[in-house]
Amino acid sequence: MNYYASRDICKMIDTPRHKGQRSKLVKELIAKGIRDERVLRAIELIPRHLFLDSSFEDFAYQDKAFPIAAGQTISQPFTVAAQSEMLKINKGDKVLEIGTGSGYQASVLHLMQAKVHSIERQKELFDITKPLMQKLGYNFLMKYGDGYQGLPTYAPFDKIIVTAGAPDIPIALLRQLKIGGTMVIPVGTGEQVMKLIYKRTASEIDIQDKGIYKFVPMLESKGN
Ligand code: SAH
Repeated sequence: MNYYASRDICKMIDTPRHKGQRSKLVKELIAKGIRDERVLRAIELIPRHLFLDSSFEDFAYQDKAFPIAAGQTISQPFTVAAQSEMLKINKGDKVLEIGTGSGYQASVLHLMQAKVHSIERQKELFDITKPLMQKLGYNFLMKYGDGYQGLPTYAPFDKIIVTAGAPDIPIALLRQLKIGGTMVIPVGTGEQVMKLIYKRTASEIDIQDKGIYKFVPMLESKGN
C-alpha cells in the first residue's frame, strides 16, 4: 500500500490540539538548548503531523525520528532544529539540502526564508513529498537525483546541509559551497559525528565536531 494511500489531502487539517502539541515540542527543544528564534518559530508553525501517515499522527510531536516510505526516516525535531541553528541562516541564503525525505527539514529552512534546493535519491519518496510540499504551499526546488553530485547548475551555495550519514565529506559538495559558506554534515557509519564546516578559501576549510547523531546512511548512486 502506498505510504499516503490512507490519507485524503482534503482532510489535511491543523487543529488547536496540534498547535498545543507543537508549543509543547518547542518548549522541549528550548529545554534541550535550541536558541535560534526563527528555527523555533518555524517548528511552531509547521504541521509535522501532515508529514506522517494519519495513523501515526499521535507520534508527530514527540521529539523522535519516525519511519516514512522507502525504509527512510523523518529526522528527530531536535536534530532538525540543531542542524538548522548551526547553519546560522540569513534571509535569502541559497541552501542545498541532501536527503529531502519527508520534506520537513527543507520546510523549516524554507520558513526561515532560505532559498532551498533539495535532492532525494528515492523516487518513491520524491513522488510523495513533491506534491505534498505544493499542497502545503512550501514552494522550494526539489530534484530527484544523487546527492553526492550536488547540484552544479545551481551552485555555489551559501549553506549546505546533509541529512543522511555520509562515509566522508563529498568533494563535489565542498566545491559547490561558496567561500565563506557553511556546511553541516553527519559523517560516519553506524553513528555519525556532526561536522560543521566553514569554507575559508577555495582550498582551506575549518571543521568543528558538534556531537554524535544517528542518521540513515547516505547511499551511493543507484544508477537509475
Ligand atoms: N531531511 C529529511 C530526513 C530524511 S532521512 C526529513 O526532514 O525528513 C535521509 C534521506 O536521505 C532519505 O530520504 C534518503 O533516501 C536520502 N538519501 C540517502 N542517500 C542519498 C543520496 N546519495 N542523495 C540524495 N538523498 C539521499
